[in-house]
Amino acid sequence: MSKPRVAILGLGIMGGGMARRLLNQGFAVTVYNRNPDRAVPYATTGAFVAGSPREAASRADVVVSMVADDAASRSVWLGENGALAGATRGSVLIESSTLTVGWIKELSAEAAERGLDFLDAPVTGTKPHASSGELLFLVGGSPSALAAAKPVLSALGRETVHLGPVGSGALLKLINNFMCGVQAASFAEAVSLIKAGGLDRAKAEAILTGGAPGSGIVKRAAASAAANDFTPNFPLRLMAKDLGYAIHEASERGLSLQTARSALEVFKQGVAKGHGDEDFSAVVKALQSG
Ligand code: NAP
Repeated sequence: MSKPRVAILGLGIMGGGMARRLLNQGFAVTVYNRNPDRAVPYATTGAFVAGSPREAASRADVVVSMVADDAASRSVWLGENGALAGATRGSVLIESSTLTVGWIKELSAEAAERGLDFLDAPVTGTKPHASSGELLFLVGGSPSALAAAKPVLSALGRETVHLGPVGSGALLKLINNFMCGVQAASFAEAVSLIKAGGLDRAKAEAILTGGAPGSGIVKRAAASAAANDFTPNFPLRLMAKDLGYAIHEASERGLSLQTARSALEVFKQGVAKGHGDEDFSAVVKALQSG
């Protein structure tokens, strides 16, 4: 069977890696990015660079969006020359950004009105996983849409988990990331207390990362801090966005995520101090004086 033609909307850290992965795997890829300069390198590696999401979608069997937030997603799908207007009947639309369930359901309804299949398929994994086909897709949507998307998701990911109807993937992704944000914020506070208490920082962090608090996310934050390297794999501003979205999802259901609220305040300090475009692990700098 020939490979489906794919459009990637958004060539940031994640979308860019996904586009490169599909090109390496021999897919015919059309790319679109709001800032056109970012798309230029993809033309030299075999991608068609579209001038709008609408044009990109018109050239694809599977359209994948990987953009920053709800506003960005609304813009690429429904804005002037948006992808929904260009998508052809029989194509599958995949939203892989980390977004609110409310927006995902609205977008799915817009797609259904046009007779188009839609999946929410946000991912776990970060920059290296995007370009090496090792993402984990958390999918909401119909089994038939998932079957049509499978060749593309299999090329991009090590595993695809079907969680239920549209919105299921989005909700679990926000739950996943609010827990990550809380752990990273708690590590930042731990570092503050280690320093204020005059402990040997390297020894103290080795105990924490090697023991019960040493989750994958805490280990990543500690490694970045130790190397003083905050090059973004997952930008801090996006972790703040996800904490805010998770708090919103909980309040929609009559719940209050108290730990997420506290963590969000810590991440907001990081953004206010100018660390928003650095890696989320720069949250350790948010609580330092000066
Ligand atoms: P990123 O590097 O900041 O890229 C963001 C992308 O969104 C860029 O292509 C940007 O275009 C586009 N964009 C932003 N605002 C826009 C708007 N108003 N209209 C159109 N396009 C817009 O972010 P990323 O790390 O690739 O993350 C993308 C999504 O994946 C986010 O939802 C994030 O939460 C999620 N995610 C990220 C990771 C990670 O480790 N990085 C992991 C899992 C999930 P410009 O170039 O024009 O600004």
